Amino acid sequence: MDNFLIQIEPRLDCENCGVAGAHRYQTFTFQGHGEPIIEEESILCVRCARAERKLRGQSDAGSEGLTRQQLIAHLDVFFETSGVFEICRRCHQQGTGCCPPSCRVMGRTGCDPNNRYGKTVFCTAFICGALLNAITECDPEVGRELKWIKRELGPVEFHLFEMITRAPYEVRDPVRPLGLPQSYPAPKGLDCGSSLRQPLLALTDEILEIRRKWSAFEKME
Ligand code: SF4
Ligand code: SF4
Ligand SMILES: [Zn+2]
Repeated sequence: MDNFLIQIEPRLDCENCGVAGAHRYQTFTFQGHGEPIIEEESILCVRCARAERKLRGQSDAGSEGLTRQQLIAHLDVFFETSGVFEICRRCHQQGTGCCPPSCRVMGRTGCDPNNRYGKTVFCTAFICGALLNAITECDPEVGRELKWIKRELGPVEFHLFEMITRAPYEVRDPVRPLGLPQSYPAPKGLDCGSSLRQPLLALTDEILEIRRKWSAFEKME
């Protein structure tokens, strides 16, 4: 029990219709590429949340940018061509990978791209500090872009990530997304994966060693 963070929510009333038993919801608005995302919170009952989702779905239609699938595919191409996936595979092989073993998408050799659940923007955008520092050492611009994507775009799908990885209900974020964005700002400067590959792979042993040290440290906590 001590190991769990139990989140006790006070009983909430819907801010729209006043009915009791409401939940906290989050909405995200993008300001543009490189800018921080705007987060807003509302307290709604399930019925009002459903109506609000419907409204938002209609008004978001036709917006520019990338869909979540296009964003995930774009990032995956960069990770494959730049050698990131190769380093992550080896990290998982040595038992220090960051994907929770409870993830529904986890195959025998790591993330299974053919799994019907698919990946989330949160875990696609997530890169550990060791790998991010190595990428920044090879190309500071790319490192900056990936940090922005991880910090601003990834958290939008954190709730989905918790569901896909079977996070226990007691530790899940009590704030639910009111809706997922219909479009995300397109990343910039990530078409250079193949030119990054050689210098990045040269740092593999260093990255894996840092991961082993951090992993041992985390186990002691
Ligand atoms: S911890 Fe870092 S190197 Fe290991 S799988 Fe995750 S992102 Fe890749
Ligand atoms: S879906 Fe995400 S957490 Fe699950 S295995 Fe794939 S990358 Fe890892
Ligand atoms: Zn309501």
